Amino acid sequence: MIKVLVYAESRDGIVLPITHELLAAARQIAAAHAGEVLCCALAAEPEALVQQLKGADRILTIAHPALASYNPEAHALAMRAVVEEVSPDVVLIGYTTAGLDLGSYVSVKTARPIVGYCTELAVEGAILNATSQLYRGKLNATTRTPLPAVAVLVPGNWDEQDGLSGGRGEVTSLPAPDSLDSLRIRVTGSTSPDLNQVDLTKAERIVCVGRGIGSAEKLPLASELATALNAEIAGSRPVIDSGWLPKARQVGKSGQKVKPKLYIAAGVSGAPEHLEGMKSADFIIAVNSDAKAPIFEFAHFGTTCDLFELLPALSRQLGKS
Ligand SMILES: Cc1cc2nc3c(=O)[nH]c(=O)nc-3n(C[C@H](O)[C@H](O)[C@H](O)COP(=O)(O)OP(=O)(O)OC[C@H]3O[C@@H](n4cnc5c(N)ncnc54)[C@H](O)[C@@H]3O)c2cc1C
Repeated sequence: MIKVLVYAESRDGIVLPITHELLAAARQIAAAHAGEVLCCALAAEPEALVQQLKGADRILTIAHPALASYNPEAHALAMRAVVEEVSPDVVLIGYTTAGLDLGSYVSVKTARPIVGYCTELAVEGAILNATSQLYRGKLNATTRTPLPAVAVLVPGNWDEQDGLSGGRGEVTSLPAPDSLDSLRIRVTGSTSPDLNQVDLTKAERIVCVGRGIGSAEKLPLASELATALNAEIAGSRPVIDSGWLPKARQVGKSGQKVKPKLYIAAGVSGAPEHLEGMKSADFIIAVNSDAKAPIFEFAHFGTTCDLFELLPALSRQLGKS
């Protein structure tokens, strides 16, 4: 019987949506092979997480104060202990900030090959077939990896709903590894963007600028259009990392997940991490001078106009009406 183990990612006692996607993927594999879906809940008090993992047949918990928030060292050590205890055929981890280092650690320490950026997954005999999205979605790679293996899954490719229920929900508590008492990494605190500045998740219209805007000095071109449309201005990660806009205005995997009626992406290439935050917008308009930019695959309307010409022209036109 095939065993698929899911790492349950959570924040402040709430299981994150990616975990339910992983459970959905695990349930698909288990259904095709009469297998079992295992899930590990690693936390100071895992009981609260257990209630939210109804898509798992067996939930393996480790309780320890060091697991209270995401300390990479603590979660890696605990995850390794779970993998060594249950010997899963497939380990599923989310392609998230936490999952990026956790996946590599589990792969190396448990001598399992790792497949990253997965958007499709299936088991065939003793082989894991995966499709991975590479180069910001410009290329899909298919791989065949011998089991046991670790797969890191890109969010947004499985239906969370399928991972919310359907498991037996048995709970097994495992002892915390002694190594959790002598960690080299200490989490001293965390900061969240100040959402009082702006809450992009509630915006009906967003004008988002990407690296193509070139510099902070050019931002008024976008903010004038935003004003003309009664929209909020937002940025891709490079724009935020460069300090051109505040973090609260970042859209994407490590920013806000938005669902406005109108989303104008200007000078944004459409990397998977950006798409994750905006692809459910009702109407997406892409302005990108590169006709091959991945954003065009998701946009309802697109133009290869130079944004430096188009944005002021649009603002002028809207100003007249
Ligand atoms: C763990 C992780 C988390 C991440 N989180 C996020 C996130 O939350 N949000 C996010 O956005 N990214 C995130 N990223 C980064 C992401 O991978 C991309 O690097 C980023 O989205 C690229 O931003 P961009 O599209 O603005 O820049 P680029 O990819 O450099 O694209 C700039 C685009 O501008 C176009 N352009 C240039 N000049 C013009 C012009 N004059 N007119 C029109 N078009 C022009 C170009 O053709 C190009 O397509 C994350 C990455 C990782 C690894």
